[in-house]
Amino acid sequence: MTTVTEMLEVIEPATGDVLDALPTVAVSELDARVHRAAAAAGEWQALSLDDRAASLLAVAAAVERDAEELARLESRNVGKPIREARGEVALASRTFRYYAGALDKHLGQTFPTSDGALHYTERRPFGVVGAIVPWNFPLVLASWKIAPALAAGNAIIVKPAALTPMTALALARICIEAGLPPDLVQTLVGAGGSIGRAIVDHPAIRKISFTGSTEVGREIYQRAAAHLKRLTLELGGKAPNVIFADADLNRALDAAIDACFANAGQDCCSRARILVERPIHEVALARLAERIAGMVVGDPLDDRTEMGPLVSAHQRSTALGYVSGSRAAGARVVCGGEALDREGWFMTPALLADVTSEMPVVREEVFGPVAALQPFDDEAHAIALANDTDYGLSASVWTSDAGRAVRVARQIESGVVSVNTNSSVHLTAPFGGMKASGLGRELGMEALDAYTELKTTYQAV
Ligand code: NAD
Repeated sequence: MTTVTEMLEVIEPATGDVLDALPTVAVSELDARVHRAAAAAGEWQALSLDDRAASLLAVAAAVERDAEELARLESRNVGKPIREARGEVALASRTFRYYAGALDKHLGQTFPTSDGALHYTERRPFGVVGAIVPWNFPLVLASWKIAPALAAGNAIIVKPAALTPMTALALARICIEAGLPPDLVQTLVGAGGSIGRAIVDHPAIRKISFTGSTEVGREIYQRAAAHLKRLTLELGGKAPNVIFADADLNRALDAAIDACFANAGQDCCSRARILVERPIHEVALARLAERIAGMVVGDPLDDRTEMGPLVSAHQRSTALGYVSGSRAAGARVVCGGEALDREGWFMTPALLADVTSEMPVVREEVFGPVAALQPFDDEAHAIALANDTDYGLSASVWTSDAGRAVRVARQIESGVVSVNTNSSVHLTAPFGGMKASGLGRELGMEALDAYTELKTTYQAV
């Protein structure tokens, strides 16, 4: 029986034109792919640690060599400003460098015994693992999974989002060119509901690392139970950005723009809930509105662009719907929130005031360029507002009072808290969410734990 290959059209969000047409992988092909990946994992594990590290460094070097091409591809496929895409490509290559250096520092333990026996733990790779990534940071998020999975000794099957598969495919090609076994990193293009589910259901894929929406994360959690599959789930967020009156306001507000509108707000760490202490609320609102209204929205490939289009017509209409729905519910649209009359999925960045904690724009992840300002009265009120969400991925606290910084940061229910910065991601430290933002952690040495099983051996003498 021959399988008819379905083609996937990849659309460029800035123009609405077709960027490429790619063959998708049928569910019936998955089993053969997994077998090939398992054989490649065996070949990979037979290499010395030095050779594995050298291969990961070769991938990093190839990403650096092709950096501008990859950045342009990412910018065109996602619609993100080229300056952001360049930073993400650099982060992807650094991720491979970090795990090349980390792979021989992932330690086990030994335990004292009374009978002279040898009692120790070691970390064993799974063999084949699966990675499912969303459309907003395709290259970076693929590299956060591929690099530690390989460093730990696994093969990896990657499913990029159907909207943005281009750079994950390019990365798989780079891995082959860099000399890795050809089936060690395989990128399978297709829909989440078909090939995505099949990856989650396949019994020989023993771990799934998923980044995406909380809704799909819940489904994967349930499906994975059939095989008690190991999971890392990096899900949605609704990050609070808490600014106290004693903070360096200019710095906090400059950073707030980037934290709300980078990648057109399509960021799980987007700090779209700006909580401002009441005495500075009006001044913060006026300054933010002025700065946001002046943002350069346009061609993502232009170096001056601060915000490109949203990834799809659907994503833009969802974001516009939050603006109109909030206005109808009594919120004030201070600036922006309108579709641009041009080709592509552009809209102006929006700032809302007079919102209430019950409004969907405050409760739900918009995943678009829509920020809302809310006043608070004191530390306890700020913490209550910050934690009044189902999510718990990222948060920021801005204050010049060191004691307050510690008190507030400690009480915010969030996997990552940043003080006097909005930066959430540091390669060397764990990243991930509490509450509905997920399970497990990526990055740092924790990611190596996540791609291995802990095994205990007791050897009598
Ligand atoms: P999504 O959940 O719709 O899709 C994510 C990936 O899962 C895609 O590759 C998709 O094809 C696949 N998928 C969809 N249904 C599936 C199923 N039933 N089984 C298996 N795979 C399936 O998310 P999205 O719209 O691509 O991305 C946006 C979401 O991702 C947001 O909620 C955002 O917060 C989240 N995100 C989280 C992080 C993080 O680190 N926590 C980072 C980036 C994005």
